[in-house]
Amino acid sequence: MITLDSPVTTVLGDKATKRKRLAEGLGIETVGDLLRHFPRRYVKTGELTHVADLQPGEMITVVGEIAVSDLRTYRDKRTGRPAYRLETVLQTDGPRLRMTFFAKNQGTASWQAKRLSKGRRGVFGGQVSTFRGEWQLTNPHMVLFGAGSGEDGEDDGMVDNFGDLYPIYPQTKGIESWDIQRAVTFARSVIDDVPEVVPEEIRDEYDVVDARTAVDLIHAPDTFAQVEVGRRRYRFEEALVTQLVLGRRRAFLRTLGAQARVGGGGLLAAFDERLPFVLTDGQRAVGEVIEADLAQPHPMNRLLQGEVGSGKTVVALRAMLRVVDSGGQAALLAPTEVLAQQHFRSMTAMLGDLAAGGMLGGAADGTTVALLTGSMPKAARADAMSRMVTGEAGIVIGTHALLEEKVMFADLGLVVVDEQHRFGVEQRAALTDKAGWPPHVLVMTATPIPRTVAMTVFGDLEVSTLSELPAGRAPIQTNVVPLAEHPGWIERVWVRVREEVEKGHQAYVVCPRITGDEQEEGGRDVIDMMEEEFVDTPLARPAGERPPLNAVTEAVERLRSGPLAGLRVEMLHGRMPPDDKDRVMRSFAAGEIDVLVSTTVIEVGVDVANATTMVLLDADRFGISQLHQMRGRVGRGGLPGLCLLVSHAEALSPARDRLDAVAATTDGFELSRLDLDQRREGDVLGASQSGFRSSLTMLRVLRDEDTIVAAREAASRLLERDPELTGSPELARAVAELEQSRQSDFMEKA
Ligand code: ADP
Ligand code: MG
Repeated sequence: MITLDSPVTTVLGDKATKRKRLAEGLGIETVGDLLRHFPRRYVKTGELTHVADLQPGEMITVVGEIAVSDLRTYRDKRTGRPAYRLETVLQTDGPRLRMTFFAKNQGTASWQAKRLSKGRRGVFGGQVSTFRGEWQLTNPHMVLFGAGSGEDGEDDGMVDNFGDLYPIYPQTKGIESWDIQRAVTFARSVIDDVPEVVPEEIRDEYDVVDARTAVDLIHAPDTFAQVEVGRRRYRFEEALVTQLVLGRRRAFLRTLGAQARVGGGGLLAAFDERLPFVLTDGQRAVGEVIEADLAQPHPMNRLLQGEVGSGKTVVALRAMLRVVDSGGQAALLAPTEVLAQQHFRSMTAMLGDLAAGGMLGGAADGTTVALLTGSMPKAARADAMSRMVTGEAGIVIGTHALLEEKVMFADLGLVVVDEQHRFGVEQRAALTDKAGWPPHVLVMTATPIPRTVAMTVFGDLEVSTLSELPAGRAPIQTNVVPLAEHPGWIERVWVRVREEVEKGHQAYVVCPRITGDEQEEGGRDVIDMMEEEFVDTPLARPAGERPPLNAVTEAVERLRSGPLAGLRVEMLHGRMPPDDKDRVMRSFAAGEIDVLVSTTVIEVGVDVANATTMVLLDADRFGISQLHQMRGRVGRGGLPGLCLLVSHAEALSPARDRLDAVAATTDGFELSRLDLDQRREGDVLGASQSGFRSSLTMLRVLRDEDTIVAAREAASRLLERDPELTGSPELARAVAELEQSRQSDFMEKA
């Protein structure tokens, strides 16, 4: 009996080379793999596929009818012996094609002539060439309709077993679409049972067809609507299995013990009392949810997303204080040194004497805040580490230096990961492993994640969203400055900057490079975890001549001696010594610098309320989300923000479209969708998050939003009724398989 697990040879016959090519080229080992090798497209039988503009040398696949068939005998000039040539004309819906078949002996020739007689229809393919002004195919591959035939002349009678749409399969060297089609057709005819993964009541409820029907509709449809019905079923199945894995994972996490962090000191209350502003409703609500999470005896796993400037830091700090109140410690992991230092400064400042615990003059309920980064002097590092291990430091802020093995905590109760898309799952795990109990985890991101991505890629996290910005946040106006059409407008940009500075405000100027002699964007070696961002950024290669990209070190000189002469212009980039970076950030925050020329190092989290203007030079070199992040640095302190996207990109180019999109909306979710549309989701989430990419073969998180939502609902219902899926053995098997695969290895660590 042939099943889906049978080796693919059972339906290929004894064709060792073909089997090898299928396995190596397409990863097809079993009959099941073969049936999951879906057609790339379909040809309406009777239609030429791509007629519009044939190019000599192009590989084509056409459907047509033999209009003329003429067997010629001639003398082969080299051998002097008779040779045979079948000359045919193929009538397609478009042009006619001349097809010539050469044969060595008379037997083959007359066999060919018979099967390619006038009126015979089929699919023909090969490299098209021109001969005396006519298109022609020489010895094309073919599948004939309505007759047993094939390229190698086997009469297996299988090829007419398909509908009005002829499937064209992704092929590999040495394996043609028709080889696959014939094997698939044979497999479908000999397999009586396609194991059903999706239980019947779920199929009924969500209106998806059974597996057998789906296989037939995908491989031998009559209409495109049928193809869609078949595909939808597979997408649903894939989403269901993924959601079951994630649902079981969540259930498992709930069974893990964690220390409930309740009661204790009055640090949080004291902090709330001295907050200089009123929490937004969103901050308050999320705070309550987190407090409830922390009071549970199992670990919190929460994703907090919110627009840039929505005030996630306060939410995180309040959660951290809650944990310190209960006697534990909390650690905040930041992606860059600049950001870690800024968090350290702003949290220490917000806490005031609450952060001077144990010291003379410190508040009774106080604690201390420790900073740990890779560039700190040895002694300072040792001091921080000893305060961490003794528990004296209730709050610890750091970069990936926190992940090092020798770093230890007394009682790590909460891990906060800022700008989480910069961290891989393994890195998060490295930190959570440092706790005696599984700690509570709060990850924060300002890159808004569409709901379905959150459901799929971060399906084991609960999601909270801060959607409102704190009151008094002024809108950011964004304009594209198109230097391709108006090179002179750059002068106006600097005039605007000057005006802002004269009003007492500050400005950022962002360049894609550090120095002019670099090939690519600068800073990649130093901006701790940002490589992926640079690699993924959909950079439009400049078309034709355009000036070299702006570099920080050059721009700073140019501006100081030119358009911004007399202003205090300083630079910041990742290659500067950490102390210098810190000093520059401090003076910028203190208002001692008017214009900060920098790389994307200021992209995340940098918070200087008095900065109102951001000029992005060569803005087309940055990705959508990155641009949105960066402009979030201005308009923070109740002063209206201005963001100027300076670019040489031509009007109507994709790069320009991207800039126009960013200028047109400040809705991060909308931009994130746009960004996703242009890239694959794994890219957006960073390479380290892409473990799932391979499991999302049929699913596209945006296109398949409805399917994913439905599958998630179906999954939670199934699990509620039958957590071990004992009632659906095939489904249980599929879930177990995914759980065991690399992808779930990835989730384990999440
Ligand atoms: P993000 O969500 O981008 O990390 P931050 O936490 O850095 O945003 O907050 C941005 C700024 O808004 C900070 O200066 C912070 O002090 C301020 N802020 C946060 N919450 C409020 C609030 N409820 N009212 C006024 N200002 C707030
Ligand atoms: Mg932040």
